[in-house]
Amino acid sequence: MPEITRLPYDVVVIGAGGAGLRAAIEARQQGKKTAIISKSLFGKAHTVMAEGGAAAALGNVNQHDRWQVHFRDTIRGGKFLNDPRMAELHAKEAGDRVLELEYWGALFDRTSEGKISQRNFGGHEYPRLAHVGDRTGLELIRTLQQRVVQLQQADAAELGDPDAMLKVYAETTVTELVKDGERIAGAFAYIRESGEFVMFEAPAVILATGGVGKSFKVTSNSWEYTGDGHALALRAGATLLNMEFVQFHPTGMVWPPSVKGILVTESVRGDGGVLRNSNGERFMFGYVPDVFRSQYAESEEEADGWYTDPENHRRPPELLPRDEVARAINNEVKEGRGSPHGGVYLDVSTRMPAGEITRRLPSMHHQFKELADVDITAEPMEVGPTCHYVMGGVEVDADTGAAVVPGLFAAGEVAGGMHGSNRLGGNSLSDLLVFGRRSGLGAVSYLDELGSDRPTIADESLEAAAATAQAPLRREAGENPYAVHQELQETMNDLVGIIRRGPEIEEALENLSKIRERVANVRAEGGTIYNPGWHLALDLHNMLLVSESIARAALEREESRGGHTRDDFPEMSAEWRTVNLVLSLRDGRIRLRHRPVDPLRPDLLELFDREELAKYLTDAELPAEETAKE
Ligand code: FAD
Repeated sequence: MPEITRLPYDVVVIGAGGAGLRAAIEARQQGKKTAIISKSLFGKAHTVMAEGGAAAALGNVNQHDRWQVHFRDTIRGGKFLNDPRMAELHAKEAGDRVLELEYWGALFDRTSEGKISQRNFGGHEYPRLAHVGDRTGLELIRTLQQRVVQLQQADAAELGDPDAMLKVYAETTVTELVKDGERIAGAFAYIRESGEFVMFEAPAVILATGGVGKSFKVTSNSWEYTGDGHALALRAGATLLNMEFVQFHPTGMVWPPSVKGILVTESVRGDGGVLRNSNGERFMFGYVPDVFRSQYAESEEEADGWYTDPENHRRPPELLPRDEVARAINNEVKEGRGSPHGGVYLDVSTRMPAGEITRRLPSMHHQFKELADVDITAEPMEVGPTCHYVMGGVEVDADTGAAVVPGLFAAGEVAGGMHGSNRLGGNSLSDLLVFGRRSGLGAVSYLDELGSDRPTIADESLEAAAATAQAPLRREAGENPYAVHQELQETMNDLVGIIRRGPEIEEALENLSKIRERVANVRAEGGTIYNPGWHLALDLHNMLLVSESIARAALEREESRGGHTRDDFPEMSAEWRTVNLVLSLRDGRIRLRHRPVDPLRPDLLELFDREELAKYLTDAELPAEETAKE
């Protein structure tokens, strides 16, 4: 057996994006010895790439905004399948978390009165995204990292060691969670730089590993996003919720091929960008679904008026929730009205002067100039849908982030429930702050209740984890991980992508079962030091489990809702709205069961018109006429 260093902690946080950092800060602030582990360099997580902003009903730009409106928008965006308790906590606490960031040093853009500025985004009734140009995530991560350093400096002064109570392990990948009986006992990992194996021993482990996009061919996600947290949770006996809901962001770059999928922020539309097809038509007016018709403009004149006079105009249809816009673009291209490279046109150049565009959207200006030689201040961009975000995730308790396995917690994108069938833009940055903190607190309470009855890890568990990790290096012959990955991505993109059909999903499941045999036999050359082939060989197990989970759930849900569109079941079904799909792993096979969606409390139901509720709920669920808002 290779040498394995045991590292004892109270709390181990896997992931150093916003959710992981916020969770770790909370655990440390509550006096727990905490490790933060990140697969990539410290500071390089999806959170840093977030552009538009963090949604919070501060009411700085429109005083009518309040948590109830944010809650209502979130539930509408998720098509009433959100975990209502999570959506409520999120809407209520997002403001405090944004203000806390400011207190810790974040420099948000300002209104003329000096308040935190807030911008419009799809599905949000009022300007709600606190932002820093189009680089909000960078400021969020910078602030949280600064807070980590602040805590470490205090420990250096008091204990003589900055790492005594809070230590960051960058470029360290967790491959397995280890249990003692039914309880979590720690996380097994390799260090990329040295190739060493380490065992983080801790009674509480918080998953904050982000998304799963690398299972798809066209994605805005970067290389780390192989669904590790989802798969680690499943293998440890936890459950995943509603994995069929995958968000395809409507606007990714489509050209040149090397950058296909890279995100074009929704801020472009929030700041007035319009979508046109190859005939020059502003096609979104033709795609407003019935459930949203009363809230969206019907003519260009009305839509354009909204930017300067929102009180007296309805919103432009470009600001419909992402799932609607992505499907519309997909359809325009399919029906032959696409741009030369298979997208549509997104134009902000006619909305405002060049200087204003470079001030408000500096990253987008830079991105298009550098990568596509397009000047967005003078010409339209070509854009198309890209796999972006997973709404499905680890089934957790809303208040504490606890998964069903004692000692396991999850927060941020890896956790399920909060966003229902579709996430609104800007709700992720606020989600990871709210639930990052809550999962940190949840882990602390768990530890306090545990007292001295802490789990231990037997040597055999270490040996087993090390043997599994080394298996691809020990095979004399076997499959090429890159070839297998490509096939998996094509299967998911082509057969379980933005528009799904039963027979195609079945075909995908057949492909995946063949891919499973190949993944079991994957081989990597070389050793354990900085070996991307080996890393991919290990990640493939996770991508496969995640892909199977998505496909199984997508086949089961016979309706179209949010990030799950079935061509063979195009309608939303009130019966299916009451169903959560819960996935677990038994004997190496994914199992699926139905769990009822928690009903909305009467005081939350009252936030919606009865007429709107009738579009989503079954007759039995509808409140009596007199209790609903008219
Ligand atoms: P992440 O920030 O994704 O961090 C995950 C962490 O887990 C990383 O540190 C990674 O290295 C680590 N990790 C993963 N696997 C392992 C492992 N096996 N071992 C150890 N570490 C591991 N949302 C918004 O609200 N507003 C926006 O404007 C916005 N813009 C976006 C733009 C882009 C280009 C992208 C890709 C996403 C955007 N999102 C936005 C979504 C949002 O950024 C993410 O959903 C969110 O940042 C996820 O945060 P997180 O903390 O859950 O995980």
